[in-house]
Amino acid sequence: MTQSLDGAAVAAMLRSAVEAVIANEPALTRADQATGDGDHGIGMARGGKAAVAALDKLGAAATPKSAFIAVGRAILAGTGGAAGAVFGTFFQATGNAIAADSVDRESLAFAFDAGAKAVMARGKAKPGDKTMLDALFPAIESLQQGDTADFAVLGQRAAAAAKQGAEATATMVATMGRAKMLGQRAIGHADPGALSVSFMFEGMANALAGPGR
Ligand code: ADP
Ligand code: MG
Repeated sequence: MTQSLDGAAVAAMLRSAVEAVIANEPALTRADQATGDGDHGIGMARGGKAAVAALDKLGAAATPKSAFIAVGRAILAGTGGAAGAVFGTFFQATGNAIAADSVDRESLAFAFDAGAKAVMARGKAKPGDKTMLDALFPAIESLQQGDTADFAVLGQRAAAAAKQGAEATATMVATMGRAKMLGQRAIGHADPGALSVSFMFEGMANALAGPGR
């Protein structure tokens, strides 16, 4: 049972998160074609590849903090657009909320929550506004439940919560970002950024459940 993640484990988890986004570029493109301008898949894949390169560069020196911050910087610069700012802020602020050489369920939940709150402070969206926050908060809330410390279980749970949250955005009307222009017509389509969060948590869950853990 894995209850604590060191720098190498966090770096592997984040690599798997961005690789899942890269692998799902076509689905993200389709989602943004339905509710936005169609660039979300391309942007997230570009930022994801920059994040992989940044993690490669960090190598064995990675700490939980430096891994999150490196990914956040890469996404901020590589993705561009609203998503670059939003996802870049999330990963950077998450990293800034970690001090120790390893994270457990509680400290990771705390850091993710700080990351999500930084996104809210910067972008002014709230849960229910049909954004990535609607997948992110359910995933974080699942981590805040303290009945297990096992990251293999926590990862699966958080991924399921993010997926449900992303699916629920299809019933919402957007009040932020480009999808706002669509009004009621966005109903029936999931938010692209929320889908990215869902793919990220699926990727993290795979890394946390993977061989050797
Ligand atoms: P752009 O809107 O510049 O084309 P993208 O298509 O890459 O950027 O990303 C759009 C996604 O960014 C949305 O689906 C939404 O999840 C997220 N987003 C946009 N604005 C905000 C905001 N203010 N707060 C949180 N997330 C946001
Ligand atoms: Mg877009």
